[in-house]
Amino acid sequence: MGLNPQLKLLVELQQMDSQIIERAYLVKQIPFKIESAMSPLKQAKAAVEEKKRAYEAAVKRKRELDAELEDMGQKITKLKAQTSGVKTNKEYHALLKEIETAEAARFAHEDSILSAMEQIESSEKEIKTEEKKVKEEDARVEAFRQDLEKQKEAASLELKELKVKRAAFASKIAQDVYELYMSLLKDLGGVAVAEAKGEVCGGCHMNIMPQLYVHIKQNSEIHQCPQCRRILFYKEEPVEEPAK
Ligand SMILES: [Zn+2]
Repeated sequence: MGLNPQLKLLVELQQMDSQIIERAYLVKQIPFKIESAMSPLKQAKAAVEEKKRAYEAAVKRKRELDAELEDMGQKITKLKAQTSGVKTNKEYHALLKEIETAEAARFAHEDSILSAMEQIESSEKEIKTEEKKVKEEDARVEAFRQDLEKQKEAASLELKELKVKRAAFASKIAQDVYELYMSLLKDLGGVAVAEAKGEVCGGCHMNIMPQLYVHIKQNSEIHQCPQCRRILFYKEEPVEEPAK
């Protein structure tokens, strides 16, 4: 026994609507997919900023150390100049001791300058490494984005075509049947028509009373699931593709 013509139209309309819903979902998801693909790029950019801050701090530190070194040098020069003016041996030895201490301090200070220079150098290298990562991530994200934009375009075009096809198709359905279908589609998460199989509704998976199931299997009238209200049909053979 063949499907009731209205029921047959509804089954096909549901197939179209499921495709439309799926494509629309795909299109809607794309900006979120792009956004989440951006996160390694954002991390790499943040790492560059962090390395740059470390570099700037090291440069500043070196500048301060250089100024201090200059002061230390001037102090030593002054102390050395004082040696010619000392009167006693004791004073002279005290002054020498002071010069020695100042020179030792300057020597230690030069070490600090060296390590500041090393810090600057390693920061420069790290910045380059991180910048390379940014470049790679940027290229990766851009390729991903372009790919998704293409997918979006294709899905949007398909969606447009499906909607045109659907509008022509929907006009073949009796108005009251169509209105029932549309209200179920809206209320029941985009699934208004479900297959009944083995005395179970394919929409809500609840059992169907045997007496009703016998009627549904005939496919001669529009029956709704007593639980979820979906329109039920029985698949005797693979459902044909929508007529062109
Ligand atoms: Zn149901």
